[in-house]
Amino acid sequence: ATPTAIMVGTGLGAKRGVLFKNAMALETAARLDTVVMDKTGTLTKGEPEVTDVIADGIDEARLLALTAAVERESEHPLAQAIVAEADRRGVSTLRADGFDSVPGHGAVATVDGHRVLVGNRRLMARENIQLDGLAARREELANGGRTAVIVAVDGRASGLVAMADAPRETAAAAVAGLRRLGAEVVMLTGDNEATARRIASLLGVTTVIADVLPGDKSTKVAELQAEGRRVAMVGDGVNDAPALAQADVGVAIGAGTDVAIETADVVLMRSDPLDVPAAIQIGRGTLRKMR
Ligand code: ADP
Ligand code: MG
Repeated sequence: ATPTAIMVGTGLGAKRGVLFKNAMALETAARLDTVVMDKTGTLTKGEPEVTDVIADGIDEARLLALTAAVERESEHPLAQAIVAEADRRGVSTLRADGFDSVPGHGAVATVDGHRVLVGNRRLMARENIQLDGLAARREELANGGRTAVIVAVDGRASGLVAMADAPRETAAAAVAGLRRLGAEVVMLTGDNEATARRIASLLGVTTVIADVLPGDKSTKVAELQAEGRRVAMVGDGVNDAPALAQADVGVAIGAGTDVAIETADVVLMRSDPLDVPAAIQIGRGTLRKMR
């Protein structure tokens, strides 16, 4: 790469808020054939909102109060959505003791003398809790693109709290743009398969890797690389950082966590998914000027 071509490419990127941290990133971006995108906070806004509270054998307000008490101790975006909904409805505030978060699964605490678990099916399976009648409702919500967390009280599944996280406005256009550039788009998420597939189909993404534990995202990227692909990883979260480091090019959403931004090779200051195909085009333009 001639220093001039690199300077021009870096400058073009900077003008639209695409920060290339090094010359290598600019060159590698030109040669990508696979773009792995995190779902929550990358393809979606990452601002889930509660859409349904389903109580089974317990008062709805009581269910939400117990759930919110646990989630007030958690920093997970789903937890924040649940707390916001409890506050909005003004359900009585309870305090949680002995809070414990289980990454990729959910959270647990004691509230008002009851052991309350909030999380996904994996968490319930670990604790030998049957979903019974709630299983079908959860599946229905997931097929509609919602993330439903299960709430168990004293070992019994007592309800669901479903949340919706809207896609970013330009996510579908970004996926289409990447396709036109000849790159395959892969969705990589810790969320469940049905929810992920629904969002993916709305956005035109055909390859989905779901139910991935926080520590396993980088392994999934490495597996794609082992197939001989040149892989970009686009993400925003703390749990995306190892995958950003593993990828040939790590791309962080500017609105994301500091760890993601520090680890990435490219930062999208406008947090706009359309800047992913733009980064590839800038890279290709730079390469052409070098020949
Ligand atoms: P993601 O943020 O992509 O969903 P995570 O690995 O953080 O990935 O979480 C995976 C799943 O674990 C979530 O979709 C949710 O079902 C469950 N989970 C994790 N933390 C919590 C929590 N604090 N409350 C409820 N569910 C949780
Ligand atoms: Mg995310």
